[in-house]
Amino acid sequence: MDLNIKTNDKGHLDIGGADACELVEEYGTPIYVIDEERVRDNYNRFYNAFTKFYPKFKVFYACKANTNIAVLKILEEEGCCIDAVSPGEVYICKKMGFSGDRILFTGNNIRNDEMDYVNSEDVILNIDSVSALKRLAESIDPQGKKISFRVNPMVGAGHHGHCITGGEMSKFGIMETEAVEIYKLAKELGFEPVGMHSHIGSGILDPEPFKLAIESTMNIAGKVHQEAGIDFEFIDFGGGVGIPYTPEEELLDLEHFAEENIKLFKEKLEEFDMGEPILYLEPGRYIVGDASVILVEVNSVKESYRKFIGVDAGFNTLLRPAMYDSYHHIVVANKMNEEPTQTVDVAGNVCESGDLFARDRPLPDIEEGDILGILNAGAYGYTMASNYNSRPLPAEILVKNGESFVIREAQTFDDIFEKQSIPEHLK
Ligand SMILES: *Cc1c(COP(=O)(O)O)cnc(C)c1O
Repeated sequence: MDLNIKTNDKGHLDIGGADACELVEEYGTPIYVIDEERVRDNYNRFYNAFTKFYPKFKVFYACKANTNIAVLKILEEEGCCIDAVSPGEVYICKKMGFSGDRILFTGNNIRNDEMDYVNSEDVILNIDSVSALKRLAESIDPQGKKISFRVNPMVGAGHHGHCITGGEMSKFGIMETEAVEIYKLAKELGFEPVGMHSHIGSGILDPEPFKLAIESTMNIAGKVHQEAGIDFEFIDFGGGVGIPYTPEEELLDLEHFAEENIKLFKEKLEEFDMGEPILYLEPGRYIVGDASVILVEVNSVKESYRKFIGVDAGFNTLLRPAMYDSYHHIVVANKMNEEPTQTVDVAGNVCESGDLFARDRPLPDIEEGDILGILNAGAYGYTMASNYNSRPLPAEILVKNGESFVIREAQTFDDIFEKQSIPEHLK
């Protein structure tokens, strides 16, 4: 099994050297717990795998996966760069010490004032449509401004239909057939187009779709190089590298993955005589996904038509199971060495029947007061959490070699209602 699970000698879940049960005693539930070393290891494993085969390589962490400022700071220290998809992400990453040249902005349907803001932070914009290019040219001085374009490589892949971002049904990117014209237009407008970007989807554990996307993107880039005279400073193949969520799924052999993809990349560079642009990849999930666990407490065990284990968190805390039907492995943090004896549904505390963390899950005997660990919650976990049902967002705890730190306090009721006001006539 390739899931990131450790058990200590008390038979409790270990997260980064800390005992999950002790963390719950100290901080309560629900909490997100993030293992600092795992984030660092994931980043370095990824960086080293590709650098080995192509030294001109940079990792642009897709920060929408997890924007906790401590996580950003860790990656800033490691020398990572950022893929930002909103002005808010640019703002927070600048604050955490990433200079503009370490951020690429891949917006989608963004307003002029948002483009202005991103541009004013000296961040390169990765443009997604002719409409955005023209609006950008009107709202900033294009002279010598470096830009990049996102292309649709007509290859899509991902763990769920919502996560497939290439192909005919995708709202993302410019078409292959318009690429040469758009790069020419950008030059005419005064821009300096230096990059090409594609991103085919998320949660991909199979190297094949990546190879297709590299091939297709490189064919477009080669054509743009030859017909529009663009010398690319960078080519960016986006993110999407998956992690195992179920016990059956295997960790991707990253070195093999890197070797195969880079071989193809280099062949294409040679075929089109494109020199040696910097290769960018934008992993989000791979860097943070398996570095975090949500700890929740069982508060009810119900024998109904089915057996329900009720916990004190819901899809407001972790949306992925409800939204994507995602599997998240669940362990009983205080009974790690006990074998499964039953299959149960693990249900949240939100008033919606879709609020389930698991159906028919084999788990050991469970009583009220037991602590469950919902694994692989580091990516698209907290960043997709909400105040639905007027529940405060949970705390985030960072663990480093057994020591723990609050990196985000839990919200209070007042925090949820803070920005509202009553107009005079209702007072
Ligand atoms: C979401 C996203 C990523 C990261 O996807 P992961 O599956 O988390 O690796 C990378 N690039 C872009 C443009 C994205 O929108």
